Amino acid sequence: MANSELLTVAEALAIVLSRVAPLDEERVPLLDALGRVLAAPVVAADSLPPFANSSMDGYAVRADDIVSAGPQSAVLLRVVADIAAGRPSDVALTPGTAARIMTGAPLPDGADAVVPVEDTDEPWRGADRPLPERVAIRRAVGHGDYVRYPGEDIRAGQTVLTAGHVIRPQEIGVLASLGVERVTVVRRPRVGVLATGDELIDVGAPLMPGKIRNSNGYAQAAQVRALGGEALALGVAGDREDDVRARLDAGVAAGVDLLVSSAGVSVGAYDVVKAVLDQAGGVVFWRVRMRPGKPLAFGAYRGVPFLGLPGNPVSAMVSFERFARPAILKMAGRRELERPNVEAIVLEDLHSDGRESYLRAVVSRDERGYVATTTGSQGSHIMTSLVQANALLIVPEGVTAVAAGTTLRALMIDWPSDVF
Ligand code: AMP
Ligand code: MG
Repeated sequence: MANSELLTVAEALAIVLSRVAPLDEERVPLLDALGRVLAAPVVAADSLPPFANSSMDGYAVRADDIVSAGPQSAVLLRVVADIAAGRPSDVALTPGTAARIMTGAPLPDGADAVVPVEDTDEPWRGADRPLPERVAIRRAVGHGDYVRYPGEDIRAGQTVLTAGHVIRPQEIGVLASLGVERVTVVRRPRVGVLATGDELIDVGAPLMPGKIRNSNGYAQAAQVRALGGEALALGVAGDREDDVRARLDAGVAAGVDLLVSSAGVSVGAYDVVKAVLDQAGGVVFWRVRMRPGKPLAFGAYRGVPFLGLPGNPVSAMVSFERFARPAILKMAGRRELERPNVEAIVLEDLHSDGRESYLRAVVSRDERGYVATTTGSQGSHIMTSLVQANALLIVPEGVTAVAAGTTLRALMIDWPSDVF
C-alpha cells in the first residue's frame, strides 16, 4: 500500500489490529489477576459448597420426624448436638433427635433438613445461649429444606472459567473459593511512551518563552494505565532524528510491546518522527481521513509496533483512543475492543470537513432518549473541552453538515451513572 494514501479510520484500525496479537501468559497472585484476561481455563479442583451445610440458624432435623409440626402442634425433639460453622460434629441424628446448627455449619449425618430458629420455641439471642435439652418444632419442613448441597454452585472437575474471561471481583471470589492462589493471565502490555518536540519542558519546570509543558507524555501514559497496561516513559526527544532514535531504541531494549509517540509526524520542517520510522523501513501508513488527527504514523520500529500520534494534545488523545486503545486491549487478550456506543440526537447544528470527525460532547438522557451537545471549542489544542466530555460524537465520513435533530453515534469514553 502506498504510504501516502489517506485511509479511512476503519481501514487504518483494521491494519493496526492485524499487526498486534495477544501477548503471552504469566502466572500472577490471585488479586493481581483483577482486570486481566484468563489465558487458560480454570477447572475446579473442589466442589462448591464442599459439604452439605445449613442455610439458616436453626435445628437440623429428620424431616420425617416433624411432618405433623405446625403452629398449634409442636413436635418435641431431643437436642443431641450443637454445630457451629467450622466445627463439624460426629453425632448422627437418630429418630426423634435434632441438632442446633448455625448458618454454614455442616449438616450432621442422619439429618436431611433444617428448621429455622424462628419456627421453634427457642428464639436464641447471643452466642452463649445454653443448648436446650429439647426443642419444640412448630413447622414441618420438607426433605432438603434450608440445606445447601455440595456442588450446587460448582462441581469438582467442572470448567468454571474459560480462557478469554475478564477477571472482575466476582471471578476473584470464585477463584479464592476454589483455592486458586495463582492465576494464568495474559501479560500486561508494556507501552513505551515518547513525547517529541523542542518546545517541551517537564511538568515541574517553570515556563520559559516559547516553551510548553509536556502534557502528552503524561496523558498517553495515563491512557495506557487506564487500560491496565504498563507505561514506560521514554521521556522527551528534541526534534532531532538521533534523539528520537535513541529513545525508541531504549524502549525496544526494555522489551516494550508497543511504541507510542506524539508529534513530529506532520509535514513541518522539523517533523522527524516519520523520517525516523521511514528510515527504519517501518511505515505502514501515515495519514488517516480523521479529525482530529490526520497525520498519524503507524508501522514498526525494529520489529515493535509503532504508533506515531499527532502532537496536538486532543488529537493525540483521540487518536490514541481510536487506534492505540483497541490495539492494547487486543494485546491484553480482550475480545471486546470498542467502547460502548449509543445513538444520540444532536441538539445543535454541526459542521465537519468531510473527514470522519470525533467531536467532544456530553451525552445525557431526556424524554427523547440520548441527546448530545458538544463541549465548546473543538480546537485540537483545547483540552478543557475533552475534560468536560463524556463522549466522542462521530460525524461520518463525507458528511459536512449535520442539522440539529439528527442522530449520530456517540462513543462513550465514560459510562456515567447519571446517564445510564
Ligand atoms: P507537531 O505535530 O510537532 O507539529 O505538534 C503539534 C502541536 O502539538 C504543537 O503545537 C506542539 O507544541 C504540540 N505538542 C507537541 N507535543 C506536545 C506535548 N508532548 N505536550 C503538549 N503539546 C504538544
Ligand atoms: Mg513539533
